[in-house]
Parts: sequence; structure tokens; C-alpha cells
Amino acid sequence: MKAVLVVHGGAWAIPDELAEASVKGVKAAASEGYRVLGTGGSALDAVEKAVRAMEDNPVFDAGHGAVLNADGEVELDAIIMDGQTLGSGAVSCVQNIANPVSLARAVMEKTDHVMLTSRGANLFAERIGFKTAPTETLVTAYERREWEKAKEYGAGVKELFHSQLCHDTVGAVAVDSCGNVACATSTGGIRNKMVGRVGDSPVIGAGGYADNRSGAVSCTGHGESILKVTLARLIIFHIEQGKEVEDAVALSLRYMDERVHSGGGAIAVSPSGQWAATFTTERMAWAAAEQGTLWYGLNPQERVQDKPVQ
Ligand code: ASP
Repeated sequence: MKAVLVVHGGAWAIPDELAEASVKGVKAAASEGYRVLGTGGSALDAVEKAVRAMEDNPVFDAGHGAVLNADGEVELDAIIMDGQTLGSGAVSCVQNIANPVSLARAVMEKTDHVMLTSRGANLFAERIGFKTAPTETLVTAYERREWEKAKEYGAGVKELFHSQLCHDTVGAVAVDSCGNVACATSTGGIRNKMVGRVGDSPVIGAGGYADNRSGAVSCTGHGESILKVTLARLIIFHIEQGKEVEDAVALSLRYMDERVHSGGGAIAVSPSGQWAATFTTERMAWAAAEQGTLWYGLNPQERVQDKPVQ
């Protein structure tokens, strides 16, 4: 069976100053995740690895590089889902954790629950001896500056979203050589968000979904809009109805635009290895690895073939 891994680094108006680093970051993450598949690893291990690579990369709004909320704190959301069992784990509003995707996986594997939030998620992390990271180590000088600017202009979440200034959530989807699919999504959310705000990313069926019977999806964009149309599950629904993966994503993004007037992006893969990386925002950094080849893009309709993945 054909193994495929696709990643995104957030759908938004990525400024030129961040473009190169974003593309480099998604290409590196896709290569890392794909190497896991190449050595017989599972789709679940591959998406976790790829998302961790982007959480560790300060150019993305996840883990290191996360945006600050209205109180100047970092609150992180993440989900991971296994298409073989429909097992899923998520954390929301978690603090002092550099790799929330791995904590989400621990929720899936070590608890009877699907999501832990805020203090509970942190207490769980402490109980299992999960590595913590002081907030100051997660915040970049770039984010501190942008947050001060946003505060000064009194920009609310809505304004920031409409100017598409602050989202670079990360996500990965994969199918492994056994035909199992998985997805993972991780984010710091939206700059200046209210304390306690949870977006779509950690919510099953909104920020991500994976089912071996149809495929795996990871979404990005305005969380409140994605939640309203349960975007990940909507894409899966269209695949279940027989649509090609690319059409299923395009149709669902069009529906979100018509219904709640919001742009966004998603990556998806089917158990047979069909995949898509589609967005309706100005840009989305993405990369995909299949059959030893790496593809990537940033601007609409852009699909560049890179050197073979090692
Ligand atoms: N969906 C994320 C959120 O609303 C943001 C993003 O995708 O960039 O928290």
C-alpha cells in the first residue's frame, strides 16, 4: 500500500517575511514524518512526529512560537486521532507544554477520556511526568512585538481574523503501508483571544478527524467558523458520499465560505493514498511526501516538486 504524509503550517495571509521559513518548516516536517512511514512506522507515529517538528519550529503558532492571549499568556490546543480505532485524544488551554500533540496522545492512550482542558490537562501532564516548558521559552520576540501592537490598537480577535494576521496552526495527516490513517492538529490559537477560548483545533470533527473507512483531515482557519460547520467531519462526509478527496475539501471550504463567510484550509488523505492540500485564504504553507517524492506549495494553485525525500 502507498504511504503518504501531508502537513500544513496554517492558512492565512502569510507575510513575505515569514514565507521562506514557513515553506522550509513544512518541508522539513513532512520529510520527518515520512521517514517514520518509510521505516514501517504507523500513521499515528508519523503525524505526531511531523506535528512535533512544527511545534518545535518558532515560525509556527504551535508550541514554540505560539501566540499570546489577552492576558499575555500562552494557551495551547491539540488533537490526535487514530483512524483504525477512532481513538482520539485532545488537550485545550494547556500551559507550559512545548509539545501538546504528544500530551493529546497520552490522553488518548492513558485515560478513558477524549479531551482534557486547562488545569486538568496540566495536572494530568504532571501526574504522568510529562516534560514541561516555562512560558517564556515558548514565546518569541516576534510574537511579543506583534502582541504589543495588537494591544495598542485594541484589535479584537475578529478584526485580527479579518485582516488574516495571525494564524499558523499546524497539522498532519497520513496513511501508512497497512492502510491505516491518522491526523493531528496543534495550535496556539488566535492572538489576543479571550482567556479560556478554545478554537476548532482540539475539537473532534472540527479541527481534525480520522477514520480508516474514509480518510484523515486536519483543518486550519477561523476556529469559530470551522466549529460552526464541523469542517473536518464535513470533508469526511463528502468522501463517504463518493467524492474525490480534492473535491471533498474544495466543496467543504466553499460551503464554509457561503454559510459563515470565512476562508480556511485543510489537508486530507484517503486510505488508498489520494491526498489534497487546499485553501481559500491568501496562502497556506503545505508539503506532501509520497512514493519518495516531496511536493510543496504556498500560493494558490502552486504545486512544486522538490528533491526526493530521504
Ligand atoms: N483554527 C485555529 C484557531 O482558531 C487557528 C488557525 O488555524 O490558524 O484556533
